[in-house]
Amino acid sequence: MADNETPIVEAPRDFIRDIVDADLKSGKHKSVVTRFPPEPNGYLHIGHAKSICLNFGLAEEFGGHCNLRFDDTNPAKEAQEYIDSIKADVRWLGFDWGKNLFHASDYFEQLYIWAEDLIRAGKAYVDDSTPDEVHAMRGTLTEPGKESAYRNRSVEQNLDLFRRMRAGEFPNGKCTLRAKIDMGSGNINLRDPILYRILHDEHPRTGKTWCIYPNYDFAHGQSDSIEGVTHSICTLEFEDHKPLYEWFLDNLPVPSRPRQYEFARLNIGYTVLSKRFLNQLVTEKRVSGWDDPRMPTLAALRRRGVPPEALKDFVRRVGVARANSVVDMQLFDFTVREFLNKHAQRRMGVLRPLKVVIENYPEGQVEELEAVNHPDDAALGTRKIPFAREIYVEQEDFMENPPKKFFRLSPGTEVRLRYAYFIKCREAVKNAAGEVIELRCTYDPATRGGNAPDGRKVKATLHWVPAAQSLPAEVRIYNPLFSRPDPGAGGSDLLADMNPNSLELLKDARLEPALADAKPGEVIQFERQGYFCTDPDSKPGALVFNRTVGLRDSYAKA
Ligand code: ATP
Ligand code: MG
Repeated sequence: MADNETPIVEAPRDFIRDIVDADLKSGKHKSVVTRFPPEPNGYLHIGHAKSICLNFGLAEEFGGHCNLRFDDTNPAKEAQEYIDSIKADVRWLGFDWGKNLFHASDYFEQLYIWAEDLIRAGKAYVDDSTPDEVHAMRGTLTEPGKESAYRNRSVEQNLDLFRRMRAGEFPNGKCTLRAKIDMGSGNINLRDPILYRILHDEHPRTGKTWCIYPNYDFAHGQSDSIEGVTHSICTLEFEDHKPLYEWFLDNLPVPSRPRQYEFARLNIGYTVLSKRFLNQLVTEKRVSGWDDPRMPTLAALRRRGVPPEALKDFVRRVGVARANSVVDMQLFDFTVREFLNKHAQRRMGVLRPLKVVIENYPEGQVEELEAVNHPDDAALGTRKIPFAREIYVEQEDFMENPPKKFFRLSPGTEVRLRYAYFIKCREAVKNAAGEVIELRCTYDPATRGGNAPDGRKVKATLHWVPAAQSLPAEVRIYNPLFSRPDPGAGGSDLLADMNPNSLELLKDARLEPALADAKPGEVIQFERQGYFCTDPDSKPGALVFNRTVGLRDSYAKA
């Protein structure tokens, strides 16, 4: 492949793509229609990205379209903030639903009509059992359920009661509408599932129009049908709902016949992908918000600097299958690192500064040294870095009594300062507590640019910044949010499983002057450290950088 060619990313292949392909080839469908159906009860997380990439990806690859449909059937938990964030996140991933924006609430009237149809057909009834009674009569996986005493109400009575439910005559929980299917079914979802419950709650879109709301199962398949969805793709936990999904389609005069397919959800170690848990972390203030960069939400990944292209590449590598598995966070970091290595400009930043005085460098002298912005992309140009008598290096790049393989600074050793000179350490200055607070070094003026004319070699090249001209900054390092791979598993306390060291604040970092111009969201490699971007908290004079990902695999060490 020539250098200037972009590599061709192979179109993904998986069992769902095979099904769609076959359905189009056989003429079963003329074009593919998918949907991404989030419930607006929280921010989207990286698991949702898998579903978004699959649904919108199928539509792109096979020339169909994908609807964004809000599954807004539970006003008690849903909010406009979530609707807005979900739209922003889908767009950020680079997908466009165009005019295909829908809400389950668009279909409330139609769903209501269909519910009456079921009642008229003797296939639904109003049940006055309390929620506890309904639960107790459901049976278990091994025992059949018991029929409700209200199961054999007449059609007239059921219609009357259901209309009065709609009219607001009953308080929350007084009764429900249930499908009359089979209390003895081996599939608990078919044991007279609840279709409507009473909820005197204002809805973000329909306001106070409704005080009864359809549940997920009664809304989902019918919404798919109304929209002409051909392939309704969901995660494996809905497999047991499929017979119910089909029962509604079989028993209602729906306009089209969608088909449900299930795939394994994305799970990632050391984090949780469940809006319920993430909501708990936010409400209990264990994180600073939904976009706290330690969160697995798309808003958090964006704030941390993860490029959407890298996220999509990660999802592609994970693939679509039916076997449940837990993906290693290392694969995610690797993918992000690989993308940024190609695209991020280089700068120098010292995270934990140690002052170096270059004793033979003239006081008051400052020279501008040239540095390349990307080692493999000359088109990204160069910049100037001021060099002076006092600079900072990284504390960990000095050891007073180094072990054999430590080639960085120690008394008597010579190293290269990137883009600058060779320096040699003469002495370490200590404070009263015995801590090294400054290094006294000398430089070799003949090594300008980083090479010695006599050909002598050094074994280490260090990054550095000038002391006076560098910018103070706070750098935030993010580690896994949880200290075990399966937080909350086996009934363990999710909050107790949190990693106390998930956030490291480095308040005294010093950055080269060019970083004053870093654009919001632009990710930059700090040489030898990792990839960083400004946080929205950053202001001129009070810079704040987030570490997107380190240069090396920090998990392996830990
Ligand atoms: P959560 O458990 O996090 O609340 P959810 O399934 O309740 O997730 P929805 O808003 O209903 O959240 O999800 C929208 C779509 O995203 C659904 O089709 C769901 O199957 C899919 N989805 C949710 N979590 C994952 C995941 N971890 N991996 C892949 N797809 C997912
Ligand atoms: Mg859900």
